Amino acid sequence: MSHAPIKPPVITLTAGPVQGYPAVLEAMARPMGYDFDPSFQAFYEETALKCAAALRWPDPALIIQAEPAVAIEAMAASVISKKDVVLNLASGVYGKGFGYWSARYHKEMVEIEVPYNEAIDPQAVRDAFAARPDISIVSVVHHDTPSGTINPVVEIGRIAKENGALLLVDAVSSFGGMDIHPEDCHADVFITGPGKCLGGTPGVTFIAVSPAAWEHMVANPDSPTASILSLLDWKDAWSREKPFPFTPSVAEISGLAAAIDIYLDEGPETVWRRHALTAEACRRGVTAMGCDLWAAREEIASPTTTAVRVPEGLSDTAIIASAREQFGVILSLGRGDTLGKLLRIGHMGCTAEPIYAVVAITALGGAIRALGGRADVSAGVEAALDVIGNATA
Ligand SMILES: *Cc1c(COP(=O)(O)O)cnc(C)c1O
Repeated sequence: MSHAPIKPPVITLTAGPVQGYPAVLEAMARPMGYDFDPSFQAFYEETALKCAAALRWPDPALIIQAEPAVAIEAMAASVISKKDVVLNLASGVYGKGFGYWSARYHKEMVEIEVPYNEAIDPQAVRDAFAARPDISIVSVVHHDTPSGTINPVVEIGRIAKENGALLLVDAVSSFGGMDIHPEDCHADVFITGPGKCLGGTPGVTFIAVSPAAWEHMVANPDSPTASILSLLDWKDAWSREKPFPFTPSVAEISGLAAAIDIYLDEGPETVWRRHALTAEACRRGVTAMGCDLWAAREEIASPTTTAVRVPEGLSDTAIIASAREQFGVILSLGRGDTLGKLLRIGHMGCTAEPIYAVVAITALGGAIRALGGRADVSAGVEAALDVIGNATA
């Protein structure tokens, strides 16, 4: 059977994987390093230290040779033991999903779940510790991407620390796009990757791991080794003096180093500012156009993804298809529990530029209109331009 050729998109404004920076793609085309060669071993060490600098973390970053979803599962397998009571915080699909991985390893789980357009209330975390002082691990997703909402990880981290629990943070789609680092939130394991806000590719993960978390893994008799789910296997691999347990993802490491260089060279504060500005222009434009934001309150709306409620009577997939067909612009659907309820505009990495808010609003509004819905596209564009103009005035 033969298929008609499919035209590639003109502009990709998804919530990850994102359009990569050209310098990342160029770096990935470098000749393949051999993992026993001293030049590659030195480059790997430099990359682990570079990641640590971006994370503002004192120890070399742990690099895992797989996409972040694998590394998050590996974190569950490696850290959580049969003695642990896990407090899982679920404000969305990723938070809820971590509980299922946790269930394979923990003694017991306490879960706080809120509607997926809401954020976790730190007081509920405090109450959970009061009721269950035996909670030993707290797990939280900073930006639950399928909802486009942010959890207050700094407050949550402080409470976890006060209660002597380890904190596991999924910061895959927030780190690099806003001001968050492992030490800010007292994280013991803080997972992120280059495929979202850093404008890299999704095939590798880098992690900050605290000494307490390493101790916990070493003491966990079921923490895997010689396994794709092992964090311990790669603990010392950052050092040029230590052999790799398996072949690292050589091209992805080059891409990761390039993505971190772009981030540090531009200046993190500047990068966060353009993410926040693009998101604000999107939110203003979306509401001026007559659409509703998904987030219950604007304070919890992510600066890296804008989630928009699907207008009544219209289908999410039809809107996405129309935006692609008419304009070549790709937006994201919801996922899992948010599928069918919202649409997402990603502004991560190189698409965190205010002009893309104008593009997204035009494509989204144009698609809604083409399907017979109501969208005041010109009001949306004007509102976005106002935000951009005020910021640059
Ligand atoms: C993208 C993302 C991940 C990683 O998922 P992959 O399937 O590996 O891309 C994990 N957590 C969150 C919150 C994400 O947005």
